[in-house]
Order: sequence, then C-alpha cells, then structure tokens
Amino acid sequence: MKFARARRGFLWFLCGMDGYFDHNATTPLHPAARRAWLETADRFWHNPSSLYQPAGEARRLLEDCRERAAALLDCDPESLIFCSGATEANNFIIRHFCETEDGAVLASAVEHPSLREAVTSLSSNYQLIPCLENGVTDLEEMKALAEKRRPALVSMMAANNETGVLQPWREALEFCRGRGVPFHCDAAQWVGKLPAGGLGECDFLTVSAHKFGGPKGVGLLKVPAERRFRSLRGGPQEDRRRAGTENLAGIAAMLAAWEAREASLEAAARDGAPARRAFEEEVKRGIPGLRVVAEEAPRLWNTALLLVPGPAGNVKWLARLSAKGFCVSTGSACSRGEGASDVLIAMGRATEDLGRTLRVSAGPETAGADWRALARAMIEVSREIGEAPAAKRRISL
Ligand code: PMP
Repeated sequence: MKFARARRGFLWFLCGMDGYFDHNATTPLHPAARRAWLETADRFWHNPSSLYQPAGEARRLLEDCRERAAALLDCDPESLIFCSGATEANNFIIRHFCETEDGAVLASAVEHPSLREAVTSLSSNYQLIPCLENGVTDLEEMKALAEKRRPALVSMMAANNETGVLQPWREALEFCRGRGVPFHCDAAQWVGKLPAGGLGECDFLTVSAHKFGGPKGVGLLKVPAERRFRSLRGGPQEDRRRAGTENLAGIAAMLAAWEAREASLEAAARDGAPARRAFEEEVKRGIPGLRVVAEEAPRLWNTALLLVPGPAGNVKWLARLSAKGFCVSTGSACSRGEGASDVLIAMGRATEDLGRTLRVSAGPETAGADWRALARAMIEVSREIGEAPAAKRRISL
C-alpha cells in the first residue's frame, strides 16, 4: 500500500503533474514567501517592541510591510493591523460591533463560518441577507433591510470559498458609504486571485496569507485609523489595537507572496478561466447527471463546485480521487465534511444535493493538462462507482 502510494507520487513528480485542487482550503508556500520567512527569522528575530538597535531594525521591517500592504490595497497604513488570519479578523470585527455598537449587524447568508457563526452566536440583533439561487447575495434585499432600519454594520464577503461566486461587494460598499453605514468585507478568497485594488476602500477588511502562498497563521485586518478599536488585550503592540508579539517572519512572508501573486494575477486569470471551463465541459460530457453549481454566475477563475451523480456520496468520490493522486474537497475545509453546507442551504438547494458536492479549486500554476487529468480521473471514478453495485448484484445471484 505504502509502496503504491510512493510510486504514484514519484510518477506524478516525473510527469510534472499537479493533482492538488484544494487551493481554496490552503496553498503551498510561495518560494518568495519561503525566502522572506527564512531571512526574517534569521536576521530580524528580535522583538520589534524592544528598545535596542537590532529590535529597531525589526520594527522598521514591520512598518515597511505595513506600508507595502497599504500600497497593495491603496489605503492608509495606519488602518492596518497584522493578526493571525481571517478567523481572528472576522471574529474581532463582529465581536466589536455586537458588544459595543447599537444597531443590527447585516451579514450575507453565504459568509464563511468564522463570520456567520460569530454573528449568530454573539448577537441577538442580526439579520442574514439572503442570496439568489445562483449564490450571489441579494443586493436589493440588503438595501431594503438597511433602509428599514439603519444597521450598525453591513458585512459581505468578496468571493465565496465554496462556490467561488463573486459577491457584489463594490455596490454594497457604495450603498453603505452613501448612508454612512460601516462596511466590512471578508476578502480571504479574493486576495491573491483577483486584483486587491479597491478593497482598501472598505472600512473593515479581512485578509488571510495562506490562501495566496503565504504561511498559515498570519493575516491582516483593516479598521478605520481614527477609531480606537481593540481586539486582543494585553501588550501595546499594533498601536494598542492587537496585543501579542508580532509574527514578523510570517508578516514578511505574507507580503512577499502577495506581491508576487499580484504581479501575475492577469496571466493566472487569463489561462485559468478557459482551463476551468474546458474541465467543466469535459466532466459534464463524460459523467451524465453531473452539474456545476452557480455555473452562470460570475465566479473566481479557479473554483468549480460540482454536484456528483449516482449512488455514492461525495466522500467516496473524494477517497477514490485521493487514491488516484488528486486532492479535492467536499466543500469548505472549515466544515470538515461535518453536516450540510450552509452556503448550499442558503442557495435553496435540495437536501439530496448536500452530500454530493465536490469542490475543485486550482492555483495559478495549475496547467490545462492538470485540469484534463482530473477530468479523466473523475470520469474513471464515475465508472468505478457506477459499476460497483452491479458487480455486487452478480455475486449475490
Ligand atoms: N473567510 C473565508 C472566506 C475563508 O475562505 C476562510 C478559510 N477557509 C476563512 C475566512 C478563515 O481563514 P483562516 O484560515 O485564515 O482563519
């Protein structure tokens, strides 16, 4: 068994194929991020809050990273706080509004659990903005809810982690700005796949490094510079807004990955979208009954959420594909396959669809040949799974 796995890995390596299709869950470390991490950990390991000269150099690097992030987002560096990632950022923003501000929180029903669960567990004064059948948050419904009673905060993600559907965050931001309503955007799946410009206009923003080639456990939170928000309590780090010694190597690596990705976004989108489209056509042709969720909606170029047909559920598909060297997921990594997807429920999908989702998410280096190899493997799996019950019947006769 072990030998077979090692041999498969070796063959993949030899033919240069990439079977990793779970980039929405996490991404491999970008070489530029690795270099930055090692250099920072070696040379700038002093505590940026200490007062001697080498610590001052670490502090300067920290502030340089903040300025580079602000340049990517086109916003004020003082509005940026480094943190441990999108879960912390989302929890902090929602906790702040639920505990200290009057008025309801309006959040899109398709938000990531780190935001949706924070809203539903921390507040009794919230409303989830429904989405249309295609997974796009219903903007008109959001406007109607906000017109009825001015909310404390509107939160809408930029791109959905399960379906890849792009959300109308720019329009929502414009609407909120016109009415003086604070607007938050969870851009964890957008940054590194689409240009970050414009996101800096959101009052509150969430970014996570490991979604675009940075290390895990580091991210960014934007809050208005003039407001004295306080997330973690303790030391005076991050201008007293987030206590805890900064993860400087992680932050430097995040910026290196982000800048590298930002420079190659156009090529990734240009090549990725047709390769994904060809994959979808091939699996629909080769696997009767397979459907693509939100096929006609505007989507990230890297993501396809499939509904697989037949007697077997998605976990069996995932296991068979994994045995063939492909990594896909049954949906959000954060749901770990437990229970149904709230995103599909919000889209009004039938309950029998809920155990049939396979999420395929590519990276900027995924080639057309990788997509074609995955399509072939899926067609093989559909035959293997389709044949299994018939074989059993023959035995029992
Ligand atoms: N928001 C979105 C949209 C995500 O996709 C994820 C990761 N799946 C998160 C938040 C949580 O990110 P992190 O792992 O950085 O906590």
